[in-house]
Amino acid sequence: MKFAITSKGDTESNIWMQQIRTYLQDSGLVYNEAQPDIVVSVGGDGTLLYAFHRYSSRLDRTAFVGVHTGHLGFYADWVPDEIEELVDAIAHKTYNTVEYPLLEAKISYEHGGLETRYLALNESTVKCVDGTFVIDVEINGQHFERFRGDGLCLATPSGSTAYNKALGGAIVHPSLQSIQLTEMASINNKVFRTIGSPLILPAHHTCVLKPVRQKDFLVTIDHLTLLHKEVRAIQYRVAKEKIRFARFRPLPFWKRVHDSFISD
Ligand code: NAP
Ligand code: MN
Repeated sequence: MKFAITSKGDTESNIWMQQIRTYLQDSGLVYNEAQPDIVVSVGGDGTLLYAFHRYSSRLDRTAFVGVHTGHLGFYADWVPDEIEELVDAIAHKTYNTVEYPLLEAKISYEHGGLETRYLALNESTVKCVDGTFVIDVEINGQHFERFRGDGLCLATPSGSTAYNKALGGAIVHPSLQSIQLTEMASINNKVFRTIGSPLILPAHHTCVLKPVRQKDFLVTIDHLTLLHKEVRAIQYRVAKEKIRFARFRPLPFWKRVHDSFISD
């Protein structure tokens, strides 16, 4: 079996990365950064987001597992104290995988040309560079609302505990193939109206954002922010690809929610 390790880059994470690497190699596994069967991410949830994007072209052949060197994470749910148990399991046990849904974003442009396609593990947000963000929201081809405000966020179920939560979105169990639309500070008065509530769309439904006047937008895909110019439309849906996590022990999602936000 081939493995790779990504580290947050701080001293502690780098030390653990070295230890895991040595142990797995001593157990007969092969370090292969280009084509790993399993990727161990050491750091935090942000480190796993980075690992996901690095290996997003081979999701069907790569499983992920996360170790956290800071606070408990949603993707990084092993602590350094358990590393021996974890590496032993990776080296000697057959593991199950659980699949989580991803968000697909397709951006098309006024000048024609190729559309860009992204996969997000947490979410994608859309904001404008200056002035009020105005955009038409279409759901399954039907005009839904004209949004005015700071921006919009489309999150995956596993991303629902991140930015989405800060925007008042619901926490969604990752077994639900869905995406969630939340608003950032919408303008609501007698003239302008938006729904105000977060919306959860099932698989195969589409949410398309169409510019009204300004056509340049700041689009985030997880930790990545890019300025897209002359945007014609941004289409969101549940992606056909999924991320696979290697599971060596049960750790229910609701327990992670409890331990992260209530107490551990
Ligand atoms: P960051 O600024 O270090 O991350 C912000 C925080 O979000 C960190 O505490 C991170 O955990 C945590 N986080 C990431 N994914 C999560 C998840 N699925 N559930 C719960 N918490 C999660 O930047 P980053 O590490 O590169 O992460 C990028 C993410 O930051 C974005 O995808 C977005 O969700 C989030 N974000 C949140 C807000 C907000 O809440 N207002 C604003 C902008 C961005 P770690 O410390 O373990 O990395
Ligand atoms: Mn982070």
